[in-house]
Amino acid sequence: MKVVSSSDWRDDLAFETPVLVAEVSPGEAARCSVCGGDSAALERTELWAVKHRHPKQHGGYVRFYCQAHLPAVKAPAPAPVSRRTTATAERRVAAQRRPTSVEDRPRAVCPDCWVEVPSTGVCGICGNTIA
Ligand SMILES: [Zn+2]
Ligand SMILES: [Zn+2]
Repeated sequence: MKVVSSSDWRDDLAFETPVLVAEVSPGEAARCSVCGGDSAALERTELWAVKHRHPKQHGGYVRFYCQAHLPAVKAPAPAPVSRRTTATAERRVAAQRRPTSVEDRPRAVCPDCWVEVPSTGVCGICGNTIA
C-alpha cells in the first residue's frame, strides 16, 4: 500500500508559484479557497496550488485556487545578470616608446677610412675615436 504523506508535497513547492494540484497532490476533488465551501468541488486537474509566505509560519501555507481565482503571482525575479565592467578589464596598453638610443642614430663614419664606426666609437681600422 502506498502511503502518501499529505505534508511532503507542500514542502517541495516553491513559494508563490502555481502548480497544478493534480500533479503534486492527486486525489479527490477539492475546492477553491476563494470560491469557498459552498462551491462545487473541482477536479484537481482544474485547481492550482500556490504556496504563500506566512509571516509566522516558516513553511508558509498552501491554498487551492480555481482557474478564475488564481492570483496574479509575481514570477520569481531571476537573478539579475549584470556584467560589471571592471576597471581591470580596461587596462591601457600604453605603448611605451623607448627613448631613441644611441644605436638608433646613424652611425658615425670614420673621416679617414670611410667606414662605419661601431657603437664603441673607435674605428675598427685606424683606431681613431670618433666623437
Ligand atoms: Zn475559485
Ligand atoms: Zn678609421
